[in-house]
Amino acid sequence: MSYPNVLLHVNGEWRAARSGKTINVLNPATEEVIGTVAHAEKPDLDEALAAADKGFATWKKVPAFERYKLMRKAADIFRSRAEETARLLTLEQGKPLAEAKMEVMAAADIIDWFAEEGRRAYGRVIPARGEGIYQLVIKEPVGPVAAFTPWNFPINQVVRKLCGAVATGCSIIVKAPEETPASPAELIRAFVDAGLPPGVANLVYGVPSEISEYLIAHPVIRKVTFTGSTPVGKLLAGLAGQHMKRVTMELGGHAPAIVFDDADLDLAAKTLAGAKFRNAGQVCVSPTRFLVQEKLYDGFVERFVQHAKAVKVGDGLAEGTTMGPLAHERRVPWVETLVQDAQAKGAKVLTGGKRIGNKGYFYEPTVMTDVPKEARAMNEEPFGPVAMIARFKDFDEVVTEANRLPYGLAAYAFTRSAKTANAIASQVESGMMTINHLGLALPEVPFGGVKDSGYGSEGGSEAIEAYLNTKFVSQAGL
Ligand code: NAD
Repeated sequence: MSYPNVLLHVNGEWRAARSGKTINVLNPATEEVIGTVAHAEKPDLDEALAAADKGFATWKKVPAFERYKLMRKAADIFRSRAEETARLLTLEQGKPLAEAKMEVMAAADIIDWFAEEGRRAYGRVIPARGEGIYQLVIKEPVGPVAAFTPWNFPINQVVRKLCGAVATGCSIIVKAPEETPASPAELIRAFVDAGLPPGVANLVYGVPSEISEYLIAHPVIRKVTFTGSTPVGKLLAGLAGQHMKRVTMELGGHAPAIVFDDADLDLAAKTLAGAKFRNAGQVCVSPTRFLVQEKLYDGFVERFVQHAKAVKVGDGLAEGTTMGPLAHERRVPWVETLVQDAQAKGAKVLTGGKRIGNKGYFYEPTVMTDVPKEARAMNEEPFGPVAMIARFKDFDEVVTEANRLPYGLAAYAFTRSAKTANAIASQVESGMMTINHLGLALPEVPFGGVKDSGYGSEGGSEAIEAYLNTKFVSQAGL
């Protein structure tokens, strides 16, 4: 299976780092080196900054309708390459090929949606207090953007940021994940092949902290957008604050999944197990604390364990695999630590709980009960295939538990009562809540968190707004 040596994309050119340095890329299913990615350093970043500055000057003058046409073309190109791109994504990240294809196709839909929405970045006219005065609210692109994206959805973490920038007339430098560099490079390639002018979208890889420190502080950059862990998000938001840069932060979560006594039990267990083990649990909105009301508790546990046992773990390229390995080496000891810590504190492991084999970063789909609140897994983001199921008595108790952590990204609930649905949606402190189905992450709906899960939105009209400045012009006739 061929895998490219991935290059930087700077000022319209695909090229190696000026130093010639590269970083190895591994297949997490085999631990074999499958290729390399160019390692950018300061001279490369300086070129990318100059290109983004120039790219912005060009792109902001291109009419919204032309930007829209180019983006629609990029979406079609990207779709037409779905097979090859999905294979690269599975090779470098591990997820099953079917999930990889879904990621590519979803990205193409996201491009289409942002393309359309960019044409509707309307300002407004405010009625004036005097005759002949026009009070205009004008939306202008914020400027060159620095974007930092992780490895769990190597394409979809880039596409929302890239599209927000391109649709509004900004330029962007993407620091994509070194672990999974080829599939995001294919996304950029679709835009380049659709005719995006040089400098509008630049792509770099390297040492994340070196690149973020340099780009965020640089005067050319006007906006920072990051997806990743809460500690890194706080660091980058602090740096952006020092330089007064616009910021979007999409950070970690520890989603409560609440199943009330009147829920459809089969639907809840099946839907939530599917969501838990997708992408081996390496999803910021992954359900993590399963809070089940007393009457349904035993039935839910039994069904959920059955679903967990039915997950077929293997190489993402192998026929029938429904869960791949964890995406990189450091994820395995982390998940092991959380499970062992929970067990030591009294948790029961009903299924899973161990690494699989000693080649590839495979970990068993794991279900635990009786996990005390002090266990690390009940407080820190597992970002792995680990579910903790706990019992609750009444509404107030479950709200208290749902809101106990500093996170506030996604939340899930199952109930047949409209009254309970409304009440739980209003009382859980989260940026997103989905009830009786999985309804998160479509391009047209807001996507983002509150509290330690960050701020800003990467979906819906809010996602466009994040790349626009508001200018007020008051004009009197002479
Ligand atoms: P990590 O915190 O080291 O890295 C997370 C991401 O941030 C990576 O893509 C990394 O390259 C980037 N990063 C790290 N330091 C950076 C810096 N100083 N400047 C710019 N980028 C930086 O951890 P990890 O082991 O790669 O991932 C584990 C944790 O990351 C998870 O527990 C989860 O909380 C978080 N994560 C969240 C998402 C998400 O979708 N919100 C995605 C991936 C990882």
